[in-house]
Amino acid sequence: MNNPRPGSPGATRACPHCREIILESAAVCPACRHYLRHDAIVDAPREPALTPLRISGSIRHPGDGEPWEYTIVVSVHNDRGEEIAHKLIGVGAMNPNEQRNFTLSVEAVSTKVKARKTVATTD
Ligand SMILES: [Zn+2]
Repeated sequence: MNNPRPGSPGATRACPHCREIILESAAVCPACRHYLRHDAIVDAPREPALTPLRISGSIRHPGDGEPWEYTIVVSVHNDRGEEIAHKLIGVGAMNPNEQRNFTLSVEAVSTKVKARKTVATTD
């Protein structure tokens, strides 16, 4: 996976709170939900992000047999079919008759909307 240079669309960094790799331009970490930039607070209201993809589904253990273990994996392919990301999201187990609900959402925001704005701080 190639990394765009800092300041360009798609540039990434590590969240200072949880160390997940997130968009450099993110105002709020999508993983731990901590605020990352002072201007995220004073810049409101912001244009909301689009959610061009959102899928929800659930699985239920049929109730007979042994417990299930499950693995959640997300992969992203570009328009040439090349895998550009592959991530293990989590694992878990389900006992008979238990249900798990899963939601995958892809948020998108114009890089123009996210254009950096310098805010003078006194601290
Ligand atoms: Zn975080």
